[in-house]
Amino acid sequence: MKLLAAIMILAVPAPTVSVSAPDIANYQALAEQDLRLAMVGHRLALANAPFCARKSRNPGWVLHDKAQYPDAATAQAAFGFRLPVAVSAVVPGGAAQALGIKPGDAIIAVNKVDFTSPDLVKGKRASARLEKLQDMLGEALDTIGTANVTLMTADGVKSVKLAPLAICASRFWVDAKSKLDAGADGVSVRVTAGLMAFTADDEAQLAAAVAHEMSHNLLGHRQRLAANGNSDKQILETEIEADRLSVWLMANAGYDTQAALHFMERYGRRTDLGIFSAGTHLRWKNRQKVMRREIALIQQAVTEDRPVPPPLLAPGKM
Ligand SMILES: [Zn+2]
Repeated sequence: MKLLAAIMILAVPAPTVSVSAPDIANYQALAEQDLRLAMVGHRLALANAPFCARKSRNPGWVLHDKAQYPDAATAQAAFGFRLPVAVSAVVPGGAAQALGIKPGDAIIAVNKVDFTSPDLVKGKRASARLEKLQDMLGEALDTIGTANVTLMTADGVKSVKLAPLAICASRFWVDAKSKLDAGADGVSVRVTAGLMAFTADDEAQLAAAVAHEMSHNLLGHRQRLAANGNSDKQILETEIEADRLSVWLMANAGYDTQAALHFMERYGRRTDLGIFSAGTHLRWKNRQKVMRREIALIQQAVTEDRPVPPPLLAPGKM
């Protein structure tokens, strides 16, 4: 009886106080994917800025909030949060990098508004504090053109004046789903973790997927479908336009447009439903044909005079 009691006590799992190395690695891998997507998105949005009707001043950083993570102790171990909101990654060539901002620097305040208070998330969604910060910062940058940011860095408190360039307005985020998918909601571009992994060894193929979704946003497709109805035929039209514009955006950003054809074949072979395909998308070989026509036009355009204006974004075409 005594022995059984002892075994039963041993069998009760101890409360987990430590965090596991694989969990830490998973959190860090997610942050790396955020950076990969931010870098590709920034490169496309910067290079094509002259042709975007809607621009936004983008600091070229990725921020994260400790509250977003399911396990605070793992998040702390993975990223060493100095304060609840911190810079998780800095895009090479962006404004944040030029100011010497580094991953791990934490946000104390934006234009004197304190973002260290736990009250900003109390009783709200985990993303509430970061959303408030992004909205405030975005509004300041797009109206005044600058924002004062106070950071807690490895060397102590540092104040900087962000004054980034205006580039094509777009946000980019990695959706944790494993399905091969991406989407555009008129403002943001979403890429699933599954699609990030599918393009893991080829940045230009990731750029092809991002450029397609950015094209939907730049061409106002969401708004057009909402206004004119969203029959299969109308959706198909927007899909063809996004495929056409995507290769121009890629070429202007210095990506090899052939990667779009390779991506389409790989993605198509994996996801094409054959005769069961929806009427909203062309089959992958036909999508390649649409892109090849545009690639030929790009090659005919004056290549020394980059960036080349994409015909679909010409004034009057919007
Ligand atoms: Zn699409």
